[in-house]
Amino acid sequence: MREDGSLWVTEIFPTIQGEGPFAGVPATFVRLGGCNLACTFCDTEFEAGNTDMSVDAMLDAIMRVRRSAGPELVVLTGGEPLRQNVVPLLVELTQRGHHVQIETAGTLWDERLEVLVGLNRVSLVVSPKTGKVNPAVERLASAYKYIVRLGEASPDDGLPVYSTQVPGKELELARPPQHLVAKQQVYLQPCDEHDGAEGLTGTNLGEAIRIAAQFGYRVCLQTHKLMGLP
Ligand code: SF4
Repeated sequence: MREDGSLWVTEIFPTIQGEGPFAGVPATFVRLGGCNLACTFCDTEFEAGNTDMSVDAMLDAIMRVRRSAGPELVVLTGGEPLRQNVVPLLVELTQRGHHVQIETAGTLWDERLEVLVGLNRVSLVVSPKTGKVNPAVERLASAYKYIVRLGEASPDDGLPVYSTQVPGKELELARPPQHLVAKQQVYLQPCDEHDGAEGLTGTNLGEAIRIAAQFGYRVCLQTHKLMGLP
């Protein structure tokens, strides 16, 4: 962690947030380099072409690429954004009126984030990739999101039972707190791999729809891809 808040950045770009509770909202994405996990299905480029950027350089880049004149949504994603010292950037962004969504797998935590989340200036969207997440992340998360693949749902709650790290191994991924289930803030995103089937039967999408209807979750598609956006 660097004291000055400079970060290892893969890319900064404007788009429409396509997934989760902010789906449809114009946003600037800051993709940070590196991850502490190695998921078998990961298709995110978080190692190539990274550059070190100071907080000022990141703020300049965000102001340059964003589409709107006023404050907007900034999404910190990765990789795993919480493996770096993101607090100085978050403080500057939130002081300028931006709301920041952090997309995290939930294994890492910086206690300085608690104030920003408590002030409702930062939202945590957790996509568990392990059997447990950090207790503070679980307590403060505003939504949970799961990648759904056919045949890997628990019969008890419909949520995934598979190791994201070891192919073929069963593992119950960390479950959402009950208050998020009650608020329907659990999102099911069908895995974006070819199903080899026509229609919904036998597909990851069909499975996500079935589970959402049975257990009261939400189906979440990567709508930015439908829009042809990054
Ligand atoms: S946690 Fe996310 S970014 Fe990291 S390896 Fe897994 S899918 Fe990729």
